[in-house]
Amino acid sequence: MLVDQYEDPFVRIASMIGGDEYLKVARSLLKSEDATDEEIASSTGLRINMVRKVLYDLFGKSLITGIRVKDERKGWFVYRWRSRRDEVENFIEGQKKKISERLQQRLDYENASDFYHCGNEDCPRVTFEDALEGFFKCPSCGKVLNLKKNDKSKKAFSVKIDEIRKDMRK
Ligand SMILES: [Zn+2]
Repeated sequence: MLVDQYEDPFVRIASMIGGDEYLKVARSLLKSEDATDEEIASSTGLRINMVRKVLYDLFGKSLITGIRVKDERKGWFVYRWRSRRDEVENFIEGQKKKISERLQQRLDYENASDFYHCGNEDCPRVTFEDALEGFFKCPSCGKVLNLKKNDKSKKAFSVKIDEIRKDMRK
């Protein structure tokens, strides 16, 4: 299903989290506020179990709220769900923060060691400690290991981290 840039941010973020099913549930929540899982299932054509799975996930991510109300017809309690469009911005910022932290960890790892490689594309890099232990022979193919500069990946990580941080300050 197509999501264009004019779609509500709440719908766009839902579709980014989980694809088509999330997209349908999110659109349905915007169309009729305070709907029950059954109402959402019938308006989207999704199975009730799928609707519940999506709702609980969105609830866990604080993107929707649920109010417990008594269904007068049936005599039992049901949840009515509502989108929290005001939370979308927070959610996105939180995701960006997580990504920048992960990138920083990768950069720290690249900075913490020299890496060695045999030149064979199928073989992984080896840290200095591991290279030393194996007398600078590749543990996978046995060829001689040479220092492999990782300046390029360091630079790439730094640039990406800067981008995200700049974007977060906006
Ligand atoms: Zn090798």
